[in-house]
Amino acid sequence: NRHWAHSNSTVFHPELISYNNDKLGLMAELRHAISQQQLKLHIQPQIALSSRQVIAGEVLVRWHHPRRGLLGPTEFLELAEQMGVIYPLTQWVLEKAVMMLAELAQQQIHCKIAVNISSKDLLQDELVDSLELLLKRYKVQPSQLVLELKESALVAEPDKAMRMLKHLAQLGVELALDDFGTGFSSLAYLRELPISQVKVDCSFIFDLHRSDTHTAITGAIIDMAKNMNFMVVAEGVEQPEVEQKLIAMGCTRGQGFLYAKPFALDAFPDWVKQWSY
Ligand code: C2E
Ligand code: CA
Ligand code: CA
Ligand code: CA
Repeated sequence: NRHWAHSNSTVFHPELISYNNDKLGLMAELRHAISQQQLKLHIQPQIALSSRQVIAGEVLVRWHHPRRGLLGPTEFLELAEQMGVIYPLTQWVLEKAVMMLAELAQQQIHCKIAVNISSKDLLQDELVDSLELLLKRYKVQPSQLVLELKESALVAEPDKAMRMLKHLAQLGVELALDDFGTGFSSLAYLRELPISQVKVDCSFIFDLHRSDTHTAITGAIIDMAKNMNFMVVAEGVEQPEVEQKLIAMGCTRGQGFLYAKPFALDAFPDWVKQWSY
């Protein structure tokens, strides 16, 4: 053990030092990325599989870094969570999402907007109040906003997270459990959550048309969701065969490259108006 403790020390490992400096540098820059307008929002539609209606759009962040080029969320968000700088980013995303909802209402487009919320955000007591203010300021119905949380967001401090979810649900926003099937939520715990939808992780959906295992897992999730009165959204729908199979299995909503890759948030109202498939 002492051997491991020693070799874990970063002091004598040049590669590790530069790696850590690199990360620290990136996070210092993230603090300014918002004000310097380097963060851009994309959106990806969610489609009702039978009616073909656009139900919602999920907002996804990207970072146009001046030197590193385009960074995807997986390249900086986990670090941002660890470093405690995710909440200002979330608030910025929420405001843009609510502004888009106001725009959609003005254009008489009935469709929701979904925002990803990190586990750290759920521990911020002021989240509910600031969200309430935001919705009032832009005169947006809370039910138009969907917050997507990962199962893992509830693991660290389940009691506190549950209290927060209840407050958010009282506010009237819709809650979705993201990446469903990859975590370890017990069914008993799931029943207690004030969520209205689960999103089946794309890892089960990509090859649904030719994987018996993934068909079994997805089928079990759809059945469970029906029993608990949750909507089911399948993520990562790329193939028409997968869509056909989802419809046959009783899944009602899909999101994926088959319908649209994520595109600039501003283009969403026009996209919805000209959408046909
Ligand atoms: P997620 O919430 O599971 O979002 C869906 C991801 O799957 C997106 O990746 C999307 O581009 C990708 N995707 C959707 N359909 C398909 C498909 O048919 N094929 C393939 N190959 N991929 C598909 P993206 O934009 O890179 O986002 C990655 C993750 O970063 C998201 O996963 C989410 O957990 C996180 N994220 C993105 N934006 C935010 C944000 O504003 N706040 C927080 N906290 N997390 C965010
Ligand atoms: Ca999501
Ligand atoms: Ca997901
Ligand atoms: Ca994911």
